[in-house]
Amino acid sequence: MSAWKDDAARDLVRNAGERFALFVRGEGSSLWDDEGRRYLDFLGGIAVTSLGHAHPVFVEAVATQAATLAHVSNFFATPPQLALAAQLKRLTGAGESGRVYFSNSGAEANEAAFKLARLHGRTDGVDTRPRILSLTNAFHGRTMGTLALTGKTYMQEPFGPMVPGVEFLDSTVEALEAAMDDRVAALFVEPIKGEAGVVPLPEGYLAAAREITERHGALLIVDEIQTGAGRTGAWFAFQRAGIVPDAITVAKGIGGGFPIGALITFGTASDLFTPGSHGSTFGGNSLGTAVAGAVLDEIERAGLVENAEQRGIQLREQIAAIDTTLVDGCRGEGLLIGVALTAPVAPAVVAAAQQHGLIINAANDATIRLAPALTIGDVEIDEFVDLFARALRTVQDALLLDDQTQTQTPTPEVSR
Ligand SMILES: *Cc1c(COP(=O)(O)O)cnc(C)c1O
Repeated sequence: MSAWKDDAARDLVRNAGERFALFVRGEGSSLWDDEGRRYLDFLGGIAVTSLGHAHPVFVEAVATQAATLAHVSNFFATPPQLALAAQLKRLTGAGESGRVYFSNSGAEANEAAFKLARLHGRTDGVDTRPRILSLTNAFHGRTMGTLALTGKTYMQEPFGPMVPGVEFLDSTVEALEAAMDDRVAALFVEPIKGEAGVVPLPEGYLAAAREITERHGALLIVDEIQTGAGRTGAWFAFQRAGIVPDAITVAKGIGGGFPIGALITFGTASDLFTPGSHGSTFGGNSLGTAVAGAVLDEIERAGLVENAEQRGIQLREQIAAIDTTLVDGCRGEGLLIGVALTAPVAPAVVAAAQQHGLIINAANDATIRLAPALTIGDVEIDEFVDLFARALRTVQDALLLDDQTQTQTPTPEVSR
């Protein structure tokens, strides 16, 4: 075992499996490990590095702002913070009445959204809306509040009891109609369930959810942490549905690798927080907001939302053309892609891809998740298709061999 593997096994909390590589450098869609081996990165740190690695705009923003002013407390405002708030209001269409709360992660943005939901429907200290609705299999984070919103029993069970008040529904309009009443504070939705395997909501669901929540005075809160910042070929996935939510949460891709998240409120939901009701020491500091502002500027300037749409189409076409029996089509939008497999061999495909020099991820046993940089072009796509086809062939051959010898080869273990 390499020395770094010993260090990792001894020093890091055991919340993940064995790490496959020690990455020391990145540039664009390339990563290099400690032995100088290059990998093509088609995971982007799970939809985070929107501009790829070490993009000059990102590097310049970090360096300049670090040399100017990194942090003051939230007793004060800073120019990058105000600029990013205005930019997020413009890009989301939150308009004049919109407001932005900055956090350091996706979970913290959703914690803020959870508190927003609790504030909604409270009059004179009486909670008239004690119910919160969320969807089965949705992922909203790992903190105690966001875990309570996460519709995965296996994640919740070891940490019960959960924060009370959350009910889980199937992702159908019928289930929502049946569950909704005037005691619901909010409905939380992921427009595409990323962690569940890049599973989109049914066609028309968001529009119906908007109508139903509005009819009952409940908030519609859209978790755009994985889908936001241009990844799906729209600035935010809710915009494809032509709806106006009450709040959205963002993180991952907006910082391009700098940890930052935000809750953006629309309309009257913007009036719910009052002085002292929520806060974060680091949230919205000038360093983080300067970097996120620069990342979003570059996504706009370079037309990367449009690129995500076009390259997504191109990738889907080329994946469909791979000569393999293992691929059953693609889900998702733009550059958030779930490649559905015909067998539960996603961990084996990920392991084979790593051996071939390609970084991808198994969102579940039968789904490969792709979330490359929004900057990718023909060169990266050609290389990806070549490496991915090779990884699929490796696994397909192993399965064939398995069939022939009637023995059971265990699928390689991979950490997710
Ligand atoms: C990643 C993710 C989160 C949690 O974000 P963290 O930054 O890991 O806390 C929440 N919701 C969705 C949809 C995500 O993809």
